[in-house]
Amino acid sequence: MGWRVPLSDVSLSAEELRAATAVLASGWLSMGPVTEAFERAFADYLGVTYAFAVSSGTAALHLAHLAAGVGQGDEVVAPSLTFVATANAAVYCGATPVFADVAGTDDFNLSADTIAPALSRATRAITVVHYGGYPCDMAPILEIAEERGIPVIEDAAHAVGASYAGRRCGTIGDIGCFSFFANKNLPTGEGGMVVTDNEAYAGRIRTMRSHGMTTLTWDRHRGHARAYDVVDLGYNYRIGEVASALGLAGLADLDRANARREEIVERYRRRLREMPGLSSPFEGAPGRSACHLFPVLLPTELPREGVAAAMQEAGVQTSVHYRPVHLFSYYRRRFGGRAGLLPVTEDVGEREITLPLYPGMDDRTVEYVMDALAAAVGR
Ligand SMILES: *Cc1c(COP(=O)(O)O)cnc(C)c1O
Repeated sequence: MGWRVPLSDVSLSAEELRAATAVLASGWLSMGPVTEAFERAFADYLGVTYAFAVSSGTAALHLAHLAAGVGQGDEVVAPSLTFVATANAAVYCGATPVFADVAGTDDFNLSADTIAPALSRATRAITVVHYGGYPCDMAPILEIAEERGIPVIEDAAHAVGASYAGRRCGTIGDIGCFSFFANKNLPTGEGGMVVTDNEAYAGRIRTMRSHGMTTLTWDRHRGHARAYDVVDLGYNYRIGEVASALGLAGLADLDRANARREEIVERYRRRLREMPGLSSPFEGAPGRSACHLFPVLLPTELPREGVAAAMQEAGVQTSVHYRPVHLFSYYRRRFGGRAGLLPVTEDVGEREITLPLYPGMDDRTVEYVMDALAAAVGR
């Protein structure tokens, strides 16, 4: 489908193309020196000790939950207003996700107040998502986690480059997870990163990423090791060198790209204020957003399907972030999810529509999208 304005768009720079081509010419395609350089640069950028590049954001989340010791019979408190992978990570470990509601229709993140009632003696971790790149109010969340002695995992898939109280998202809790999927702020096609300052967590993530093995192919190639042991039931969650090259080159341009996203969001917000009944969350929210998404909340009397169809008519792609996880068939069947459990999440899930947002959008395109929205909602 040739959208006039797609939801997101990747446009690789000459430097990114050069870096990817250099990997192809080098003949070393699996995890190796470029990945090591990417991990070092990413750790430096975030100000964190350990960073492990992996095959996807989902793999990052799975490893984070394993490292935190999440297992059979445990509960993990998580949002339902998220991509399903957030909750799946707990389920992969044999745990039960316990969904907490979002703070409000102007704040699509979990808060300490919404997390508290979901905690039990079985809670093994709290997993938060920085929705759309907007940082959760982490201080009170860390406080209740600390009281209980449980770790906080940050799903920072939307939030690469975002910050809160002088720290980068992903480094505020105990373990941070990033996604480099093609539509995220730092796209490498597929890929992800797990970060932590905790040495014990890092050790477990390092082994579990590659089959529970004690050495890597790259170590053996360099003659650093000949034999290996398998010390745990690990996975193949390794990233490839081409993806790492794109990530490393893209990281150098990330702040500029995120700043452009910020300008677009400001322009969007100005126009939205002229449309009574419509709103976007996180106005004046704490910290600095990575502006991954621009969500709009429609008034109840305006069915989303009609608005989305009118936008499509104008060539503008829209999406929904998110249909609540607890209402998906699998989660209903397996964990008893049903309507009414999370009133705010369900309300947002019905009324939210996401507009196009990517750094390559020019101002005229932003205005075009807003003209199309104004026409679609008749205001
Ligand atoms: C994209 C995303 C993920 C999963 O990342 P992948 O790289 O696609 O596996 C997890 N959580 C959230 C909130 C996401 O948006």
